[in-house]
Amino acid sequence: MNKKSFVHDATQCTLCGRCLEVCPLFKLTQHEELSPRGKAFLLQKISMLNISAVEASTLAGLCLGCAKCATVCPQQINLPLKISRLKAAHPRWQDWIWSRMLLRSTLFLPLLRFSKDLLPGLHPILEAIGPVPGNISAPLKLKTSATEQNREAVVFPGCFGRFLRPDLEHKARAVLSSLGFNLLPTPEWQCCGFALLQAGFLDREASCRLTNFNIWEGLGRPRIYTFCATCMQGLEGKLSPDVQTGSQKMFVRSIRSLSELIPRLSLESAAGSSETQLIWHTPCHGSEKTGSALKKLLNMHHMDVSLSSTQCCGLGGAFRLQNKKMSLDLAYQRWHNLHPSDDAHCLTECSGCILQLGSTRPIGVQVSHWLDLFEQAL
Ligand code: SF4
Ligand code: SF4
Repeated sequence: MNKKSFVHDATQCTLCGRCLEVCPLFKLTQHEELSPRGKAFLLQKISMLNISAVEASTLAGLCLGCAKCATVCPQQINLPLKISRLKAAHPRWQDWIWSRMLLRSTLFLPLLRFSKDLLPGLHPILEAIGPVPGNISAPLKLKTSATEQNREAVVFPGCFGRFLRPDLEHKARAVLSSLGFNLLPTPEWQCCGFALLQAGFLDREASCRLTNFNIWEGLGRPRIYTFCATCMQGLEGKLSPDVQTGSQKMFVRSIRSLSELIPRLSLESAAGSSETQLIWHTPCHGSEKTGSALKKLLNMHHMDVSLSSTQCCGLGGAFRLQNKKMSLDLAYQRWHNLHPSDDAHCLTECSGCILQLGSTRPIGVQVSHWLDLFEQAL
């Protein structure tokens, strides 16, 4: 085990407690040892011990990888990355996560995607994922407003858009076309890398990032639009250990969330709109602005969506594999605070949240992406 790779310099931590205020696990359990601060000190201790794979994986699993602590830490301590390094440094971790994934996971799509290449014959697992949330009766139609003539753009659909909801990619393309972007064909992107990093597959994350960068360069450096908040975080590589060069920074600047275009959309009501209660879930990696922009847009069409404060859905990639009960507790707590009516429709902008909330939703409640509000064709 490479001890140097995850030694936490405790002198950096001022014990300010800001990370405690934002950590979803600490909020749920109130256990200091599960807080970012507690885990950072535990990591420091573990680096001096010769611990087992089970102990390491147990510790490493006690984190959702939401990066909220890294975002607020005034000392810029990147705890999720320290945990990823711990996972990567442990020789038995990858065997452990593969075995859990193959036996139990229907939610860890990026790894499933890799598993298709690495372990032939796994396609049935993808087919066994079951019903995919989404596809409501769309109450709105996109109209052409064409304000972005001649600007080239390409869609990054992520594993969710590629494998489970390809119709979302079509809808994303329709949004961009309606605004006049010059749309390029969607290339064979690699994984955004977020879940790989969070699971400790640092080499694969770096390789995906390099391939995606080369694809972007080969396309002539267009804007990249993604409709998944977690893909956005993964592509930006903020939590990645590598230092970015000048052109890699340009790549990051070219990555945009499709949600930022919501205020510019031109719409008309489609036939058969329903009176269903719409509620909005802001993902950990999403922007509070998306819900507000959507509300404004819907209000213009005599519809509404209820907003609530950001709260983790509890998926956290490998976290659900390791800590199913805690993951589900977080999801049910989230549902409690969303206050859905019996036939409510929950919208969000993250594929992981759609899967987690979709698999825990109250009977009668639907979960989907905001793009599902639109009919597909222009
Ligand atoms: S990444 Fe999220 S879950 Fe993990 S310690 Fe930080 S705030 Fe808590
Ligand atoms: S936010 Fe950073 S400095 Fe403050 S307690 Fe957490 S780890 Fe320490």
